[in-house]
Amino acid sequence: MSEAQDASAWVPARPTLPRLAEAVQACRGCELWEDATQAVLSSGGPGARVMLVGVQPGDQEDRRGEPFVGPAGGVLTTALEAAGIEVGEAYLTNAVKHFRFRPRGRRRIHEAPELRHLVACHPWLEAELGVVDPDVVVCLGASAGRAVLGRRVRIGAERGKVLEGPGGRATVITTHPSAVLRLRARGGYDEALAELVADLRVAASVGS
Ligand code: SF4
Repeated sequence: MSEAQDASAWVPARPTLPRLAEAVQACRGCELWEDATQAVLSSGGPGARVMLVGVQPGDQEDRRGEPFVGPAGGVLTTALEAAGIEVGEAYLTNAVKHFRFRPRGRRRIHEAPELRHLVACHPWLEAELGVVDPDVVVCLGASAGRAVLGRRVRIGAERGKVLEGPGGRATVITTHPSAVLRLRARGGYDEALAELVADLRVAASVGS
């Protein structure tokens, strides 16, 4: 039997969020399921106005089965509140649904997914877009931008603008909250957080 190239075979024909959340646990569209605890689909409902796309679940998300519940999720919640986006009107998901890491002793060190993982996992994101049908998609970082727009993105040049995504859907690119979080130890955190908030305000203005 040849290896699966992507997740298409596991995505339900008539998707709803509960069906997607159940079906993604069986996905074998790439090898990332093998070491992860579970797949992490999303949080938020089908009526969400804003869909935020990160890269992949992290260590805590993998254990708890929910996206953005680790430290970067804390930064995102702060930024959403400052931008006037109620967490209840946001749908949070990732481009890749299983945690990619390498073990180091008892720790699990995050490893960025490769392009092939973004491509393999894309059918889930496409199904979520169809079900949630948000007014605007926010791509958190370059990998999320690549997954949503299907091309390389340059955060510095493209962030904070309303771009036309697939099917003409409004799309805004910004940085990933984990990149903001890293600046806590190095300096520049407040400025980076303010930039993230400013980009989220642009997204909040779509359709309002
Ligand atoms: S990362 Fe995506 S494509 Fe790969 S097994 Fe998990 S859900 Fe399927």
